Formats: sequence, C-alpha cells, structure tokens
Amino acid sequence: MSTSLAILQQTELRALNTFGIAAKARELALLQLPSQLAQVHTWLVGRTPLILGGGSNLLITQDIEQPVLAVRLQQAPNAQLRADGSVLVHATAGMQWDALVRWTLSQGWAGLENLSLIPGSVGAAPIQNIGAYGVELGDRLDSLVAWNWRTGQQRTFLRDECSLGYRDSIFKHGEGKQWLILSICLRLDPLGRHRLVLDYGDMRQELVDRGIASPTAAQVGAAVSAIRSRKLPDPARLGNAGSFFKNPVVSASQAQSLQNFFAAMPQFKVPDSDRVKLSAAWLIDQCGWKGYRESDAGVHRQHALVLVNYGQASGAQLLSLATRIQSSVRDRFGVELEAEPSVVPSPL
Ligand SMILES: Cc1cc2nc3c(=O)[nH]c(=O)nc-3n(C[C@H](O)[C@H](O)[C@H](O)COP(=O)(O)OP(=O)(O)OC[C@H]3O[C@@H](n4cnc5c(N)ncnc54)[C@H](O)[C@@H]3O)c2cc1C
Repeated sequence: MSTSLAILQQTELRALNTFGIAAKARELALLQLPSQLAQVHTWLVGRTPLILGGGSNLLITQDIEQPVLAVRLQQAPNAQLRADGSVLVHATAGMQWDALVRWTLSQGWAGLENLSLIPGSVGAAPIQNIGAYGVELGDRLDSLVAWNWRTGQQRTFLRDECSLGYRDSIFKHGEGKQWLILSICLRLDPLGRHRLVLDYGDMRQELVDRGIASPTAAQVGAAVSAIRSRKLPDPARLGNAGSFFKNPVVSASQAQSLQNFFAAMPQFKVPDSDRVKLSAAWLIDQCGWKGYRESDAGVHRQHALVLVNYGQASGAQLLSLATRIQSSVRDRFGVELEAEPSVVPSPL
C-alpha cells in the first residue's frame, strides 16, 4: 500500500453510496494510513471535505465540487481485558461495522448483537449514534479518537463528550463537523455477565421460532440479522439508505392534543423525560405515501420510512419526494420530519 495520498479526479460515486445515485466527485482521496493525515491536511487547506464512509447514510443531490475524503483506515481490531472483567475493543474507522460486530461475537464478547447487520463503517457509527433493537452505539462506546481536518489536531473524546442522542452526536453540528473519526473504543462484556436486550420488535418471536429459550449473544445477533434480511430492502438490489426520517419527538402536550384528534396514533414515552416519540412511518403511511412511485424515486411498498431508487433516480428527485412527504406530514399533523441521511451538498 502506497504511503502517498492518491487523489483521483472525476470519480463516479454510484457504487460508493447505497442509494446508487450517479454523481461525480471532482477530487477524491482515499485515506488508508494514519501517516497520510499530514498530506490530507495540506490537500484540504481552506476547503471543507465531504467525509465518506460506506455511503449508506447519504443522499447525494448533484456532482460534488468539494474534496471527497473516503475513509479506508483498516487495521485489524484488537482487545484489552480489564481488571473489572470487561473488554475494551479498539477498531479503526474504515472497518465495516457488521464485520466488527461479528468479530466481537466470535470472540465470545457480548454487547453489539442487537446492532448486527447495520451497513456502513465503524467511523460513521458514532456520527448518528447508530441504533437498532433497543440498543444504541452510545450504550457500548467508551471513547473515540478523532482528527480535526481544519486544525490538524488529534484528540480523544470520552463517551460523555460526544453528546450522543437519538440519531445524534456532537459531530453533526457546528464545529463538531470538523472532526474525522479515526478509531473507536467499545466496552463489552464477556458472556454470562451481560444482560441481553430481547424485548424489542420481533426478537422474542424469532428466538421462539428458532427453538431458542436461553440465547447466547451470538444467537441474538443471528436472529437480528435474519429479521433484518427478511424485512429491509438490500441496497445491492434496491437503492436505499435505510430509514429516511427520524421518529419525531414532541412535547407531552402536543402528543396529547394529537392523540385527541388521532386516537390510533402510536406514541412512545421517552424514558426519563416528558417528551414523546411518534412513529414517522405511521405519519407517512397515513398521508398515503407508502408504495408511491414517481419515475425511479419511490417509497418502499412495505416500509413508509424507506425511500428507494428503482434504478435511475437522481438525488434531486429523491430530495424533492422527501420534501413533499415532509410538507404533507406537517400540513396534516403539524409535526416536522427530519431527514436521517446527510444531504450533500448541504441544502443550507
Ligand atoms: C439498509 C439500511 C439499513 C440501515 N439500518 C440502520 C439502523 O438500523 N440503525 C441506524 O442507526 N442506521 C441504519 N442505517 C444507516 C447507516 O447504515 C448508518 O448511519 C451508518 O453508520 C452509516 O455508515 P457509513 O459508513 O455508510 O456512513 P456514510 O453514509 O458514508 O456517512 C454518513 C455521515 O457520516 C459522516 N462520516 C462518515 N465516516 C466518518 C468518519 N470516519 N468521521 C467523521 N464523519 C464521518 C459522513 O460525512 C456523513 O455525514 C441503515 C442504512 C441502510 C442502507
């Protein structure tokens, strides 16, 4: 592997984003080694990069004029046993998230099983605090190492310094966007010490169907993978970025007045707060969008939350569809839907 930074011109991005949107990057560099960071700093000076992981949470709406930095730092993960019995697992940003999950489970460490089969890279996982089946990255994150592409400074963020929230972190806002995540450190448990999270969605039923009464973490991971494979469209066959909208969180009083008008509206109290989470999928479905298709841009037939590219949709078409869905939900329910993927270039 060359230590000098290769900068590619006019690179097609279609295979580098799971929506499968065709667009070109004027300049794209592959970051493969930490020793290339100084060259990246020189290359970027005075410019804002688009940092690219697996492209599974991106909506690209036009050719990208800003420099694109594809993070491909891929050293093998390693682990340290702690005196308290826990395990600290270190992994670099370019590793595939699901490969890390499977590696930890194969070592007999529990904690990531509910986060099985989430697409994308390790380095992007903290950006929106990935979550599934009742567990978020933040439940397992110990710390991470990041590099500031503007200043060239490197620093460690402890978990509590990342401002992790529902699909949110410090790295999505203001100066937090200047940090490129190089590696993460997770705190996991050996089997036997870990409390499995099983009361979510179809998990218990899936385990019953598999004849498993007392599952191991690896069995939970396999069950999650099976449910996800059955339910979610595979981006290799149908372009998508998973859930396109976050579930909106509203005040208790707004939730109450909505319930008065729409008795069937699903509502979930947010633990330790007076806020209430609504189901974005339900709101979108009620507005009649499920299965909608316009050219090659559409809303999945079974999942109102998943926008899909049937082949040749442009990012602009998908963004226009998303904007109309937001308007209709706002008009009918007075609720704002926020997009989960990063829209690039940023529309602001
Ligand atoms: C089928 C499908 C199912 C999904 N299911 C889930 C799910 O269950 N839960 C969930 O939370 N998400 C889910 N997602 C969304 C997605 O998988 C995650 O958000 C994932 O973490 C994105 O990783 P990525 O490497 O593809 O990031 P990218 O799409 O490349 O980037 C996403 C954002 O992170 C930034 N970024 C990427 N890498 C770095 C880095 N090293 N340092 C700093 N910034 C960086 C990018 O600039 C961009 O803003 C799903 C997506 C798909 C396609």
